[in-house]
Amino acid sequence: MRFPLTLTRTMGTYLLKQRLRGKQHFPLVLMLEPLHACNLTCTGCGRIREYATTIKDKLTVEECLASVEECGAPIVSICGGEPLIYPWIGELTAEIIARKRHVYLCTNGMFIEQKLSEFKASPRLFFNVHLDGMEESHDLAVERKGVFDQAVAGIKAAKAEGHLVCTNTTIYKETNMHEIAVLFEYLTELGVDGFMLSPAYGYSAVQETNPTGAEEIFMTRDDITSKFREAKDLLARFKLNTSPIYLEFLRGERDLRCAAWANPTRNVMGWKGPCYLITDRHYETHRELVELTDWDALGQGNDPRCEHCMVHCGFEPAAVLGVNKRLGDSLKMALWQLS
Ligand code: SF4
Repeated sequence: MRFPLTLTRTMGTYLLKQRLRGKQHFPLVLMLEPLHACNLTCTGCGRIREYATTIKDKLTVEECLASVEECGAPIVSICGGEPLIYPWIGELTAEIIARKRHVYLCTNGMFIEQKLSEFKASPRLFFNVHLDGMEESHDLAVERKGVFDQAVAGIKAAKAEGHLVCTNTTIYKETNMHEIAVLFEYLTELGVDGFMLSPAYGYSAVQETNPTGAEEIFMTRDDITSKFREAKDLLARFKLNTSPIYLEFLRGERDLRCAAWANPTRNVMGWKGPCYLITDRHYETHRELVELTDWDALGQGNDPRCEHCMVHCGFEPAAVLGVNKRLGDSLKMALWQLS
């Protein structure tokens, strides 16, 4: 199976309930950012730039849990910043799991070994480690030597303790897709449970403030399509956690409409709107974010900021939820989950 049975079951029940209620905009994955501080300054990351003035602020555990309850999404992706430097990360994760949510702890992996004793292995918890290539390329992308080795040591330690581990790889203009196949081969040998892929997108927080010329590493839709076409056969043998429908979209074989409303972001400033990437304002409640955002005004052809965006957090939920559904999609998704 692609995901633990409990996750597939939770998602199935949740989606059915939302459909029976006739809800149009409902959350699937809460992107919870308890802090924006990080030990790295990765080229493709906008958070440490956009939130420079609040970089030392943190949500309390109580604020995080209130957001989990308020939003109601069955999956919580704890990100940031680097969540493993959040002082109460073990307690927060355990409390979210106790509320029957599934947690993806998105980390650069450098502190896994140090913090592992704070976590109990569970089918509801994945360590999601960011790796953009093999040692040389990854260390270049995160702008520090030794990060790849530390992340790999963390993955080995987590697997030895029985944890679920997946990885998240951003594909840049310069990414060599053959190297990604080598990376996935290596990670498969380490027992990694799945691989997520997303194209880099040069949204404003990175483009405007990154002195290293970030615009050179981000891709247009045409660039993305040709990268993912090249990867089709190369990566087919690996346990990708990226759905076949989202991959078809990335290869330019079909259209998908952005479903950013399904991936709301909560951070130290509030509920970030309209989406994980672009910020017009922060709302006090999740309900305000959903009700006050003009979702139809977003996406390609509607908002110039969305023109080349094909990111995971906007379009993977669209694939899961059957936005722009085609005949046979449900069967395709079911077979993929069972494979
Ligand atoms: S397409 Fe969706 S996820 Fe991408 S920038 Fe626009 S609103 Fe955000």
